[in-house]
Amino acid sequence: MRCKICDAKLKDGELLKRDLFTGLPLDTCGKCMGSIGEAVAEDFEYIDDVNIISKIPLDNEENDL
Ligand SMILES: [Zn+2]
Repeated sequence: MRCKICDAKLKDGELLKRDLFTGLPLDTCGKCMGSIGEAVAEDFEYIDDVNIISKIPLDNEENDL
């Protein structure tokens, strides 16, 4: 298996890496994984800035029942 981004041969540890949300194998080497991780971290920072998470009304679940 090779990295789907840079085509480098993947190590055993990199083969086991899976997407946290989809559970699908990432097929991405550690080098490319690092740049993806930074992108994700920026996204979370952005969400935190906009306070989307705190705006989600968790109490609405009770209203749906
Ligand atoms: Zn790569």
